[in-house]
Amino acid sequence: MAQVNGNYLKLKAGYLFPEIGRRVKAFSEANPTAPIIRLGIGDVTEPLPEACRTAMKGAIDEMGTREGFHGYGPEQGYLWLREAIAKNDFQARGCSITAEEIFVSDGSKCDSSNILDILGEGNRIAVTDPVYPVYVDSNVMAGRTGDADDAGRYGGLTYLPITAANGFTAEIPTEKVDLIYLCFPNNPTGAVATKAQLQAWVDYARANDALILFDAAYEAFIQDPELPHSIYEIEGARECAIEFRSFSKNAGFTGTRCALTVVPRGLMGTAANGERVELWALWNRRQCTKFNGVSYIVQRGAEAVYSPEGQAQVQALVAFYMQNAAIIRRELTSAGIQVYGGEQAPYVWLKTPENLDSWGFFDHLLGKAHVVGTPGSGFGAAGEGYFRLSAFNSRENVEEAMGRIRAL
Ligand SMILES: *Cc1c(COP(=O)(O)O)cnc(C)c1O
Repeated sequence: MAQVNGNYLKLKAGYLFPEIGRRVKAFSEANPTAPIIRLGIGDVTEPLPEACRTAMKGAIDEMGTREGFHGYGPEQGYLWLREAIAKNDFQARGCSITAEEIFVSDGSKCDSSNILDILGEGNRIAVTDPVYPVYVDSNVMAGRTGDADDAGRYGGLTYLPITAANGFTAEIPTEKVDLIYLCFPNNPTGAVATKAQLQAWVDYARANDALILFDAAYEAFIQDPELPHSIYEIEGARECAIEFRSFSKNAGFTGTRCALTVVPRGLMGTAANGERVELWALWNRRQCTKFNGVSYIVQRGAEAVYSPEGQAQVQALVAFYMQNAAIIRRELTSAGIQVYGGEQAPYVWLKTPENLDSWGFFDHLLGKAHVVGTPGSGFGAAGEGYFRLSAFNSRENVEEAMGRIRAL
């Protein structure tokens, strides 16, 4: 008899995006001519940068020759890409990260889940509330939590509320935790952390021998030059943090797939017998065993992000989405809605008007304006009463959607 992983049965059934899909489908079946605009799921909409496409086409042609053919590549990624990443994303910002410490992958979603492979069962885990659901569900699947309660909170996890009251940056826990998931700029709230705030997290982690899992998928959207893009801009972070990055949002690689994880040499965890173990060696072993690398073609496309043309095109993409975010903020504000985020991140997080709950506002917006957003409560109990709108869309759709909301 083949037994299933019972941890999967602990997952809350009504997962956010399927439920949104169900309600949108029901609405459009009842209203087949309603022109629906989706500002819900966080996928990009604009075409791939030309520099990336040109590099990928060149790589395809190389693959068509005996000399230029590439089979299995290094599990960690090609050195030329890892070197470009280390130099441009880290060393240029004063972070002492080397190519050896960078592991190229097919996504941060997978990496931020897979990292649990090398971490033990007994860790006390902290997540923010609201949160990117992947961090929680991957822990549930790996058996690192108890059952969910009625509010959807899993036993064994430490939830750190992020609300307007604390500026959407969680407070440092008063209890001791071993693993902390942080995402800045934040999905879903669009909040960002200052150097001083990240320094407090690094200081906590070092004092408590904890590990920070830092998701920087949206770093390219930071506009304020004073704000840190990487956790390694913070003193002491090499001793306590792993960072996830992705080409998905800055360069539009959501369908192309390329990302990276940084595991500093000398970053240690503790074995059951108390021995100190280097996490780099475990992650390297994990990747070599379970992963066979990202396609040569895609890695050449990612490398082109760092060319002068690539940099200009990526900056233009980011500027385009941030202009959308500015329009959303401006229009909602003049409609009398309280908005947060959207200044250093492509997400606007709004307080639902008239004390509607998150799903109530979802139904109201869909029914009256034919606009789809994401209920804040879907990201965690403390997201109740909030709502996320994404700036990933065409200018036309954003302007049309905002016009309809203002007309409500
Ligand atoms: C979109 C996103 C990512 C990127 O995931 P990929 O698998 O690299 O596409 C990572 N973290 C968060 C919070 C995201 O929203």
